[in-house]
Amino acid sequence: MALHEGALRVKMLFCCRTLHKFASFSGARSLSKHVSSQSVSPKPPEVADDHLIYTQEHFALKEALRKLIDQEINPYVDQWEAEGTFPAHKVFKILGNAGFLGVNKPVEYGGLGLDFSYSVAVAEELGSIRCGGIPMAIGVQSDMATPALARFGSDELKKEFLRPSIMGDKVACLGVSEVGAGSDVSSIKTKAVRKGDEYVISGGKMWTTNGTQADWMCLLANTSDGPPHKNKSLICLPMNLPGVHVARKINKIGMWSSDTAEVFFDDVRVPCKNVIGQEGLGFTYQMLQFQEERLWAVANIVTTMDSIIQETISYTRQRKVFQQPVLYHQAVHFRLAELQTEVELLRSLLYRATAMYIKGNDVTKLASMAKLKGGRLARELSDSCLQYWGGMGFTSDVPVSRFYRDSRLMSIGAGADEVMLGIICKYMDTLPRK
Ligand SMILES: Cc1cc2nc3c(=O)[nH]c(=O)nc-3n(C[C@H](O)[C@H](O)[C@H](O)COP(=O)(O)OP(=O)(O)OC[C@H]3O[C@@H](n4cnc5c(N)ncnc54)[C@H](O)[C@@H]3O)c2cc1C
Repeated sequence: MALHEGALRVKMLFCCRTLHKFASFSGARSLSKHVSSQSVSPKPPEVADDHLIYTQEHFALKEALRKLIDQEINPYVDQWEAEGTFPAHKVFKILGNAGFLGVNKPVEYGGLGLDFSYSVAVAEELGSIRCGGIPMAIGVQSDMATPALARFGSDELKKEFLRPSIMGDKVACLGVSEVGAGSDVSSIKTKAVRKGDEYVISGGKMWTTNGTQADWMCLLANTSDGPPHKNKSLICLPMNLPGVHVARKINKIGMWSSDTAEVFFDDVRVPCKNVIGQEGLGFTYQMLQFQEERLWAVANIVTTMDSIIQETISYTRQRKVFQQPVLYHQAVHFRLAELQTEVELLRSLLYRATAMYIKGNDVTKLASMAKLKGGRLARELSDSCLQYWGGMGFTSDVPVSRFYRDSRLMSIGAGADEVMLGIICKYMDTLPRK
């Protein structure tokens, strides 16, 4: 029954591509309105035959998602950014119905049963959402809070938490970072102490994306006093249990439409059967989960980088300084060419890492390199592009300034640049020997 449903949704998705053409923007708007909401198509026609990792099916999936984004998400982005949150249950239900929250998840739990390259394709297309906050919230649901559950969770847990998350009926969040531990995941303090067949959880989590709206958390907690890499477990924690307190929504410089919470646990009782996989392997599972999370983040940001370059080209082509378009000054078009070259290099690394990953290789080193480069490039690109918009770039309602704010997180979240460097050095065997 579930198999049939999943297959049907894939079929429906792939039929979508013949049923629509993307609506192109037409309408006379004032400049500020024009730059804040016009969708510039940055991409040349893509040909599946020539593509390194994508087939016709990947493009069909992307096309169907693009239509959904244009109809159901982008028209509301400015409003949700202003409100500082977005209706996660509503948006996830729309995405879940269409199959986009579990493209690489097992068909028996509502997923599409495709490989991770399809998640990368989805992440790329989500980059066409006109802010960073909503794609990040979706990514937490599909590729950050659920990969370990899909891979190692029991059938019972998958039925209770994975299936409704894939279908968009439940909102998930990931509880790893704490007030005193972010980069150093091994030093988290939240405890889950076994009492009979329950864990009693105390402590708290910080920076929890989707935290004010989530129905459950993929929680990393210490389940013993053993060595820090072997004493942790991932636990499916319903957020409506007594003792779970969402303390506050955190104000941020960017990612406005994504709610970020601080959460406390005051002797929360959860059945021991809610542990994902084997007790004590949570740290390892989380590290594995990070590979997908990091590749997902890179895939997501390359699309936005393309858009920002294209929008900067459009703006600087019509804006004149010293009797000629800003774009025609060599410093400007050369710089944009350099940045586009860097984006292409990053994309190549992403596709190479993805191709290796779907063949079963450990791509921790390449994923860390891509994440590092993604963060660094986002900072360079957003700064350079914003500069060419002049005063307009300093206003809050143009895409380039939103990207400038939102993309700064790329060098901090999901492992800061320095953490990526540490991982790369470990693989290069250049860390000081003890
Ligand atoms: C908007 C937002 C959303 C987030 N969403 C989630 C979420 O859903 N779930 C979750 O668990 N976490 C989430 N995070 C947390 C995020 O992953 C952490 O912020 C990140 O891991 C860094 O941890 P920290 O903030 O504690 O910084 P710290 O660990 O205090 O590090 C501070 C700085 O120290 C430097 N540093 C770190 N390691 C080294 C080193 N080895 N050598 C030199 N310098 C170093 C880096 O520059 C780093 O930025 C989110 C954060 C933000 C801001």
